Amino acid sequence: MSELPPKSSSDEYARIIQRGYRRLLRGLPKPLSDEDRKAIRHALDLAAEAHRGQTRKTGEPYILHPIAVAQICVEEIGLGPTAVVCALLHDVVEDTSVTLDVIRQRFGEQVALIVDGLTKLDKSMLNPSFRQAENLARVMRAMLVDVRVVLIKMADRLHNMRTIKGMSHEAQVRIAAETEAIYAPLAHRLGLYNIKTEFQDTFLKIVRPDEYREIADKLAQTKRAREQYIRDFIRPIENDLQKSMKGLKYRILGRPKSIYSIWNKMRKKEVAFEDIYDLFAIRIILDVPFEEERLACWQVYAIVTNIYQNVPSRQKDWITTPKANGYESLHTTVIGPGGKYVEVQIRTERMNDIAERGYAAHWKYKGLKLLHRNENVFDRWFNKIREVLENSEADNPNQIMTDFEDMMPEEEVYVLTPKGEIRFLKEGATALDFAFDIHSDIGCSCRAIRVNGSIVPFSYVLKNGDQVSVETDKSCRPSADWLRFVTTSKAKNRIRAFLKKERFKMAADGLEILDRKMKRLCNCSAEDHVDMLAKWYGFEERLEFLVAVALERLDLSRLKELRIENGQPAPAEPASKAEGTPVIPAESRQIERAINPSDIIINDEPGNYYAYSLATCCNPLPGDSIFAYITSKEGIKIHRTACSNAPYLMANYSYRILPAHWGATIKSSFVATIVITGIDDGPGIIQRITDHISSMGINIRSFSITGEDGYFEGRIALVVANTHQLNQVIKDLKSLKFVATVGRVE
Ligand code: MN
Repeated sequence: MSELPPKSSSDEYARIIQRGYRRLLRGLPKPLSDEDRKAIRHALDLAAEAHRGQTRKTGEPYILHPIAVAQICVEEIGLGPTAVVCALLHDVVEDTSVTLDVIRQRFGEQVALIVDGLTKLDKSMLNPSFRQAENLARVMRAMLVDVRVVLIKMADRLHNMRTIKGMSHEAQVRIAAETEAIYAPLAHRLGLYNIKTEFQDTFLKIVRPDEYREIADKLAQTKRAREQYIRDFIRPIENDLQKSMKGLKYRILGRPKSIYSIWNKMRKKEVAFEDIYDLFAIRIILDVPFEEERLACWQVYAIVTNIYQNVPSRQKDWITTPKANGYESLHTTVIGPGGKYVEVQIRTERMNDIAERGYAAHWKYKGLKLLHRNENVFDRWFNKIREVLENSEADNPNQIMTDFEDMMPEEEVYVLTPKGEIRFLKEGATALDFAFDIHSDIGCSCRAIRVNGSIVPFSYVLKNGDQVSVETDKSCRPSADWLRFVTTSKAKNRIRAFLKKERFKMAADGLEILDRKMKRLCNCSAEDHVDMLAKWYGFEERLEFLVAVALERLDLSRLKELRIENGQPAPAEPASKAEGTPVIPAESRQIERAINPSDIIINDEPGNYYAYSLATCCNPLPGDSIFAYITSKEGIKIHRTACSNAPYLMANYSYRILPAHWGATIKSSFVATIVITGIDDGPGIIQRITDHISSMGINIRSFSITGEDGYFEGRIALVVANTHQLNQVIKDLKSLKFVATVGRVE
């Protein structure tokens, strides 16, 4: 920072400060206590004095920056006097001779705590050796101390982005990238929509200037036509609102979407600007008392959809269940004039305030008796952050980065616990994700999951309002297969960590086995020769070798081929692979054989690399969810995930389980047994059932039937091509009048 040029007089400096002071006071809610007013004045004078003579990269007096940050806190985030004091002082400790102790003495403990948090954050941001993930962890830790640290930091970053032109291009790109990766999602999660949008648009402008320009130009070119369209669209709505909701206070806005969101859509969906239909959204904001909010919003919804046909799949009701960041609004997409899709957002002034200013606005409305679900949305989120930070694996900063993605999803799904508690997960989360979301221990010992009372596959994708309960069993253990059933990074990481631990345990077992053999062979310990032995057996990694020993995949009688010199073993010829033992993946990759598409894929490799057979306990069919189990004697067996033996195998031998799924096309047929029950309403029941099945082109292998008192139970073995066909038969049989139940024999 250079000295201020002498031409800037101290009168000018005093005027700047006085102007800033007045504007800050104007923005704060009235009445302001004398104490607050004095503290702000005092902070401003202290900062002005401390920064006197300093300039920013843009050449203006430095004090303009803390004043601007304080203004953003007041006007755009809605923070109060304490935040203003802290914002004014936020660079004082870092850049001037004023110490934290001075701030503590003059402004108290809380202000000192926040300023300290901001100073530490600044330090880490300036240090280019800290990676993004580490910076993120710091931001989140600071947030737990006092959320205002991060809100003020948002304002600081926003002002820096607005004045970024003064920096070198390289610094611009670095800061913009970090803003997009960390600050924009945080702003989203804190409900600061406007700030998030500005962060993203500025990012694009700096990092992708050409693409930014192109979209901005096209938006400008279409502006006139768009505005005319919006006017035409709104007119009938306004007419009806005035007719049927007399005296309703409202305003209607038609605003284009942000350049970043248009860019993102073009990129993600690979479409041209011209093909994006929702370039703008219509927002209807109602000014109604809190008690009438919901009814009024739905009335307006009825009026809008009465005029324009709506697209049901695109309706989003965040009034009944607000988003996890507190966002409330009713969205619908309708078909407007000329067949164009138009998104309409209906909300109240209060909801709009929360949507634009997020967290701070939320506090403002805390006095209102909000419904229970609305409360503590941020507390809940902070708890999640705390959980992530406290988790030992979170020492790894990259881990925090991936957990962070789960914590800031663009779209969420909410489900209910058996006690009726609402939990938010990212869209696309599965039943097993839910179990891990509750607690890692619950996830790891998950035996079955019920949604709305029925057992679902672990991979079931959660829907809004699902009631989910998890049954646990201490003997259940995650297997590698589980990784395919989850989408959240939390669940993935916990499963991986568990499998890793298991492998280490197995390696220890392997070492013990090897040790016994070596003792007998040459009275030496295995530990001293593991690396040599691993190499001799053709392994690159010691761990993989020991695991293979534990899994009995290696022929240890070959150890006798070792040469023993002076009581120490030395390799002879490379050990040949034992015949008949299942081939481990590392070796199988070397086998060159054409992939047979009709095969089962085991561990992401064609199943014909392995000697496998279908388990007779559950008779898997193409389409079934399956896994591969390495038996000790009979090679690999393919079981259904739903097999009654599966929990036992997974619980006790998770290390023997490999992921498996069906290949693309399968021509062969399989035998599946179904049990059918119903009312025996007369002769020929067997004939009627068999006719029905045959009419579907399906062969019957065997049929047995028992029954009394007009009730029957039949077991039918069918030859089918896949699960789909089997399910079709079951569905079809169920539709018969005399049939009560049809089920597959597990
Ligand atoms: Mn600053």
